[in-house]
Amino acid sequence: MAMHSNLDYSLQSSNSFNIKASCSCIYFPSSLAELQQLPDLASENFYILGEGSNTLFVEPQAPIIVQPKFTGIDIIEHDDHFIVTVGAAENWHNLVCFCLEKGIYGLENLAFIPGSVGAAPVQNIGAYGVDFADYCQEVNWFEFSSKNIKSLDKKACLFAYRDSIFKQALYNKGIITQVTFKFPKQWQANLSYAGLDVLSKDCSAQEVMAQVIKLRSSKLPDPKELPNAGSFFKNPVISAKDFAPLQQQYPNMPNYPQQDGDFKLAAGWLIDQVGLKGFRHQGVGVHEKQALVLVNYDSDLGADIIRLAKYIQRKVAEKFSVAITPEVRMITSQGEKAFSSLKDSKPISHEISTDNSDTSPYGDNND
Ligand SMILES: Cc1cc2nc3c(=O)[nH]c(=O)nc-3n(C[C@H](O)[C@H](O)[C@H](O)COP(=O)(O)OP(=O)(O)OC[C@H]3O[C@@H](n4cnc5c(N)ncnc54)[C@H](O)[C@@H]3O)c2cc1C
Repeated sequence: MAMHSNLDYSLQSSNSFNIKASCSCIYFPSSLAELQQLPDLASENFYILGEGSNTLFVEPQAPIIVQPKFTGIDIIEHDDHFIVTVGAAENWHNLVCFCLEKGIYGLENLAFIPGSVGAAPVQNIGAYGVDFADYCQEVNWFEFSSKNIKSLDKKACLFAYRDSIFKQALYNKGIITQVTFKFPKQWQANLSYAGLDVLSKDCSAQEVMAQVIKLRSSKLPDPKELPNAGSFFKNPVISAKDFAPLQQQYPNMPNYPQQDGDFKLAAGWLIDQVGLKGFRHQGVGVHEKQALVLVNYDSDLGADIIRLAKYIQRKVAEKFSVAITPEVRMITSQGEKAFSSLKDSKPISHEISTDNSDTSPYGDNND
């Protein structure tokens, strides 16, 4: 198996924040045999890395990295549907384009999401009214303890809003190797999300993809030009009891009622309302057009992003008594850590206030 050890392996081009970090050991397994040869990771600090577009290296030193290299796309055609099986290391957007070229429709609303296919089930990626789970049939997953690949059907994956079993019970217990999708041949454009309703009902999947790409490009900075990890914070979900006084005080506050009676709020709007859109500090900042996106102008240090994120979290809590938490994964030399456990030795103290408004960059506020 391709592997590098006892060296300073740079991860700077392997994280979309362009943070300077390196690891002393990295594995690139591409077969079951190679997975079986991995050392016992249970007793090590390690991190499974895809394309690093939802990853923040908090410290210059990263733990042991495993970056799966399973590739390939297989299509089986049935009377009324296609079954598509894809290696974890394939690029997500390339898969969306590939499917559309083959006349296989369903993923067009998820076009232009950075990252690998193997990471998509982990947080059940979603955008413009569609989630990964909508087309997932099963996920193949290498279990460290049995050293074998298991298939989890969609139900077993426990998909929820930016969540799955891979973030919960199976966290750090194995590696996703392949994903299988089922796409019915009978297709209808999903135009439920604002911005897509400009298209006609009988539009093609290609037209939907073009519109999604247009909308995303106008809202989100390209990580290659301005390093970022997309939405940094998750949209907070609060109880009806906590929402009532907020709605009274801020009648314009965007909110999305959930099936269980809770309310989802727009984290970008909250950040905007505390006047932090466009705020810059130590080479990092809040994007000028999209308050939910933190950007790295010219810092090498993950700690600068952490400091900014803690400041934002504090300001939002002070004004709205709402806790916003990161969607991005925090990786230290000791492996992944909870954001709340990370220390900020030099907290930002800066007083500003403006009044603006904002929307979600992904089109996923009301998922
Ligand atoms: C500009 C921009 C826009 C974005 N837009 C969206 C959006 O619209 N919707 C959305 O949901 N997300 C969005 N994201 C977040 C990101 O694209 C997704 O989280 C994506 O799935 C990350 O893929 P990755 O390969 O880069 O994952 P990484 O950052 O490398 O890893 C993310 C997580 O997945 C785990 N992981 C990765 N590969 C495997 C594997 N093979 N087996 C087990 N675990 C694995 C990692 O350990 C980590 O916990 C955006 C990010 C950016 C930079």
